Amino acid sequence: MEGFLYTAGPVRVLFEKGGLSQAGAELDHLAVKRALVLSTPQQADDATALARSMGDRCAGVFDGAAMHTPVDVTDRAMALVEKERVDGLVAFGGGSTIGLGKAIALRTDLPQLAIPTTYAGSEMTPIIGQTEGGKKTTQTTPKVLPETVIYDPALTYTLPSFIAGPSAVNALAHSVEALYAQNRNPVTLMQAEASIAAIGRAVPGLMGDKLDEDARAEAFYGAWLAGTCLASVGMAIHHKICHTLGGSFDLNHADIHCLMIPYTAAFNRDHAPEAMAAIARALCTNDPIGGLFDLMQTAASKKNLKSFGLTTDDIERAADLAVERAYYNPRPVTRDDVAAMLHAAFDGARP
Ligand code: NAD
Repeated sequence: MEGFLYTAGPVRVLFEKGGLSQAGAELDHLAVKRALVLSTPQQADDATALARSMGDRCAGVFDGAAMHTPVDVTDRAMALVEKERVDGLVAFGGGSTIGLGKAIALRTDLPQLAIPTTYAGSEMTPIIGQTEGGKKTTQTTPKVLPETVIYDPALTYTLPSFIAGPSAVNALAHSVEALYAQNRNPVTLMQAEASIAAIGRAVPGLMGDKLDEDARAEAFYGAWLAGTCLASVGMAIHHKICHTLGGSFDLNHADIHCLMIPYTAAFNRDHAPEAMAAIARALCTNDPIGGLFDLMQTAASKKNLKSFGLTTDDIERAADLAVERAYYNPRPVTRDDVAAMLHAAFDGARP
């Protein structure tokens, strides 16, 4: 066996249906007495109800979280943090809200209780992406890692399938890239394969009109594993392309990840045979790329880049941006390679 380096994150994780009721107790565990609850405008009612349930421990609610963590939103939240003498954060929502909590923690080092309600996985990672002037920049620092995470599968029951499906495949994309990460190790390889299997099984059950509680819980479990992979090992071309498209063209993060994963995995197919074998095992197929494409077709709200409103000129610009800085990928990537992946996704052809 080859040697490896493995670092475990220090996050305290409660995974339990109904776990939301433990939020107050978890704040006590963190010795937080004046928490600020964060949410998007769409989840403001639930965030307010959560704040009420925590009584005196809560100093207020900020419901302005937005996708890709715009710096001006963080500035507005910071004004409330200072005015209300906040001593801890409760991020209630998807990756956008968790991102806002991280951005505030980056500036203040306040403790965070993260209560995710999508499958994005950000709550497990020391990574923060922030957007300013149309550019998304990412940094990694333990300062932004939440202290405690409550995964309550019941919180995902309200996710409409057009958000749930892409969000789950967004998580799966973390696990796919973890399989061929340069610093992969036996623990993350196990987690990644189990995560792909769980999400692969769950996706059909996320898409119907009828609530499938088991599928929701299994997708959340897979998302947790995917988040731990994202936290532990480096990501490659898939994440670079998706961050470029998301940050510079303001496209929906999960929708882009969901659409792109079959195309970026296909690009790496011959350079990551063990990863392909793991995906095939996890999805119970002989054709890993076909399996990913079929999963995307089941889950995606937008099945080609055209439907995001992008033009072929945008694709050329995205290709330029995506290769601005060198990064590891199992197969060396040129600008034209990126353009080719994007053109394939533009048409939505089977890779
Ligand atoms: P999101 O947080 O914007 O949520 C999408 C929409 O779903 C929002 O309108 C939200 O209000 C709504 N929503 C969330 N949970 C809901 C629920 N249970 N019921 C009904 N509606 C609900 O999107 P996302 O895909 O979760 O997160 C994307 C963001 O997370 C991006 O900014 C991305 O960069 C970031 N992210 C960061 C990391 C990291 O490690 N730093 C990892 C993954 C994602």
